[in-house]
Amino acid sequence: MDRKTNYALPFGLLVFHLAISGSIWWTGSNAFFASDAPGAPLIALGRLAGLLLASAILVQVVLIGRTVWLERTFGLDKLARVHHILGYSISALLVAHPGLIILGYGRLNGIGFAEQFLSIVGNSGHLLQAFLAFLVLLGLILIATPPVRRRLPYELWYFTHLLVYVAIALAFTHQLAGGDLAGRTWVLAYWYSLYVLVFGELVLFRLIRPVFLFYRHRFRVEEVRRETHDTVSIRISGRNLENFRFKPGQFSIFRFLAPGFWWQAHPFSLSRPFDGKNLRITVKGVGDYTRALPNVRPGTSVILDGPWGIFTPNRTEAPKLLLIAGGVGITPIRSAAEEFARAGREAVLLYANKTKEDIIFREELAELESKGPLKVHHVLSADDSWPGEKGRLDGERIKRLVPDVPDRAVFLCGPPPMMKAIRRTLMDLGVPAGRIFYEKFAL
Ligand SMILES: Cc1cc2nc3c(=O)[nH]c(=O)nc-3n(C[C@H](O)[C@H](O)[C@H](O)COP(=O)(O)OP(=O)(O)OC[C@H]3O[C@@H](n4cnc5c(N)ncnc54)[C@H](O)[C@@H]3O)c2cc1C
Repeated sequence: MDRKTNYALPFGLLVFHLAISGSIWWTGSNAFFASDAPGAPLIALGRLAGLLLASAILVQVVLIGRTVWLERTFGLDKLARVHHILGYSISALLVAHPGLIILGYGRLNGIGFAEQFLSIVGNSGHLLQAFLAFLVLLGLILIATPPVRRRLPYELWYFTHLLVYVAIALAFTHQLAGGDLAGRTWVLAYWYSLYVLVFGELVLFRLIRPVFLFYRHRFRVEEVRRETHDTVSIRISGRNLENFRFKPGQFSIFRFLAPGFWWQAHPFSLSRPFDGKNLRITVKGVGDYTRALPNVRPGTSVILDGPWGIFTPNRTEAPKLLLIAGGVGITPIRSAAEEFARAGREAVLLYANKTKEDIIFREELAELESKGPLKVHHVLSADDSWPGEKGRLDGERIKRLVPDVPDRAVFLCGPPPMMKAIRRTLMDLGVPAGRIFYEKFAL
């Protein structure tokens, strides 16, 4: 039986909040529907869009807030994906809220859209602030669209994203002063509590928790070791680690406190199960940061934000496993393979690379294979001298190497195009989607 996930609490809380917001809106705005005044229903609908917009932004904060209980249910990668999708949907509410209100009041006052807009923004401080928040949010949504996002370095994109907190602060007074909230004690109490809870969690899990873990465990680099021409392993130790838990397949967000590194934090999976003393990550140089990481010196302090992730062997109790890795995607798979071998669970590993020089952990995998119920097949796509499997990891090859593939649970990690193609192939081969577990190296 596969690991059960508990969706009731997060969805229950969301439904609860939507019900409360709905009643706040209806009790505050239903008079507009009874009114004969021109534009009144538009104003009521604009207010509803405003409440939904504020709620959606709070949900966005929760989704990226590293809330532990939520992460254990969905995994950080899925939360990040929902965050991206919801980000785009918010644009409709962002336009609808001011658009409907200005249209509505314009009709009520018998003036045009532009004149109404200028009179609203010009006559009230909180509405001017709201307009600035609108511009910031609109800018961020534009920056997040794939054509723009692709052209921006990750760090620039990340730091501009922090402006969202400025927008939230700007819009907060507007929310309290206007529409359905102003002057209603219990409604204001609910709204304040909501913000305290959401931002309290954000500060607790994103800031306080990593700092607390650092002071408790004093993580530091023990060793930096070259694995292949473009990958290094970094071994990190700490103190008081007896009760520190890190499951195979999980990752953490690492901040190395060294010149040139301290201001960035990047996610990496453990490439070996945590043994109670050492954490090992293995990093492929793909960009400025990861290419410089081999220069980190032993003794460097490290702040860990994690462990995170649900790409863990306990996701399934299936007796037979298929592990598929491409390139550096081997890191969580390597940890999981050792865990499966330790538990005596039968596994086949298909590991795709271009050439034999790209294979990470060749000896370690051979050693694991010699000890446990694990069979390793290396599949190389650009190495004519390779005596083993040559070519792409396609359906025909998977079926030939693993004839009982439909009976297995699959763990998959590799470059995104490979993962997409292999997931489709596996489903064509009869593996149910719910039995394919995968980790995307993108948040
Ligand atoms: C859950 C997870 C586990 C990972 N495990 C490993 C691993 O074990 N070994 C390994 O080599 N790589 C791993 N990665 C990928 C690794 O985090 C990126 O390759 C690295 O952050 C790239 O940084 P860069 O500045 O060198 O490259 P860039 O060229 O700046 O970035 C390449 C891409 O990496 C992503 N990225 C960059 N910076 C960050 C960041 N701070 N946070 C999140 N994503 C970022 C972006 O999608 C970006 O487009 C993992 C990623 C995730 C999400």
